[in-house]
Amino acid sequence: MSTLKAVEAAGTAPSFDVERVRADFPILGEMINGQPLVYLDNAATTQKPNAVIDAIANYYRHDNANVHRGVHTLSDRATRHFEDAREKTAGFLNSPSSRQIIWTRGTTEAVNLVAHSWGADNLKAGDRILVSWLEHHSDIVPWQLAAARVGAEVVPIPVTEEAEIDMDAFDALLDERVKLVAVNHVSNAIGTINPIENICARAHAAGALVLVDGAQAVGHWDVDVQALGCDFYCFSAHKLFAPTGMGVLWGREALLEAMTPFLGGGEMIETVSFAGTTFNGLPFKFEAGTPNIAGAVGLGAAIDYLSLIDRDAAAGHEDALLTATLEAASEIPGVRRIGAPKRSAGIFSFVMDGCHPSDVGMLLDEQGIAVRTGHHCAQPLMSRFELPGTVRASFSMYNTLDDVDRLIAGLKKAQSLFGPR
Ligand SMILES: *Cc1c(COP(=O)(O)O)cnc(C)c1O
Repeated sequence: MSTLKAVEAAGTAPSFDVERVRADFPILGEMINGQPLVYLDNAATTQKPNAVIDAIANYYRHDNANVHRGVHTLSDRATRHFEDAREKTAGFLNSPSSRQIIWTRGTTEAVNLVAHSWGADNLKAGDRILVSWLEHHSDIVPWQLAAARVGAEVVPIPVTEEAEIDMDAFDALLDERVKLVAVNHVSNAIGTINPIENICARAHAAGALVLVDGAQAVGHWDVDVQALGCDFYCFSAHKLFAPTGMGVLWGREALLEAMTPFLGGGEMIETVSFAGTTFNGLPFKFEAGTPNIAGAVGLGAAIDYLSLIDRDAAAGHEDALLTATLEAASEIPGVRRIGAPKRSAGIFSFVMDGCHPSDVGMLLDEQGIAVRTGHHCAQPLMSRFELPGTVRASFSMYNTLDDVDRLIAGLKKAQSLFGPR
């Protein structure tokens, strides 16, 4: 029995029926390079349960039509599925209304929408947008583009050696020039869980709005936008066990009402003439063109699926996986975790002495273990730690202590091949 199995047997791991959950995810049965797949790249995208795969297939088999325009029965059915998904998403985020749920292609498009539409009406020369050093490029570059259009400035919020936001430095930056603060809920590169309630309270006291990039949070727990106190919240469906090409922007209703549309086209208008066009109400004002109907159906199915799972127990299970990984990895010479956040999602980001991250990744892949290597779309953060990149193992609720054992064995092998001797 491995040490990790002993931990499990001793009952220190919280009770969570991981085998039952795994049975819902057919891809976990794949063989990769002759070994059963160990999927530890959940921060890049999560796998999809049968409930989501079947909902999408059934939608195309039985209900496919365009939404919001047909007089025919099938169009009604498609529209009902599409809008039901919006209601479910509103419930998932504890939004006061489904009018505040804007469909996008993902987190990236959601941030761009706000940077473009809100930025155009609210930013002027000399204004500042604060973004943390922990941000993903998709929560940096849209702000740089918006700032450049008006002569505003993007200013980074420092992070500590532990890879946590430096709250004193944040306070020092909050002055009347700051119009918006953009931070992620969970860092995709390190796993840091940021104190969003606290950040919102401080930003609001200084008169700034807060946009939260929630891409990494939704896969681990249900989010309550009202409790967080944020002004905008963005996430991608594909990190919530649902399809790619689908995402959500949540915003405070008054802010969304006041914003001019992002893209123009069908769906988002009320009347069009060459004398002038009037826009549709929320949420359709921001949804130009035929939307990703099947994507919404898949997202709704993922939220339904998760409602049947004890997400607190799932999060506890992921915590136990991370703890076991950190313990075992600390005994491998030359392996160094990057950052040491007090609150962390199930992400282990590390480097190995004498071994390039991509070599570790390839060696693990030969053993059927999928991890991510590189800068994780967070080049400023990598430069903060003076690294070209890291190896990142990221857990989801369907990972097991066996997966951890396989990862650790793989790292020991890498270490014996390339490591210090
Ligand atoms: C994945 C991710 C994004 C980008 O999401 P897309 O689905 O590529 O739009 C942004 N921020 C964080 C923290 C992420 O993990």
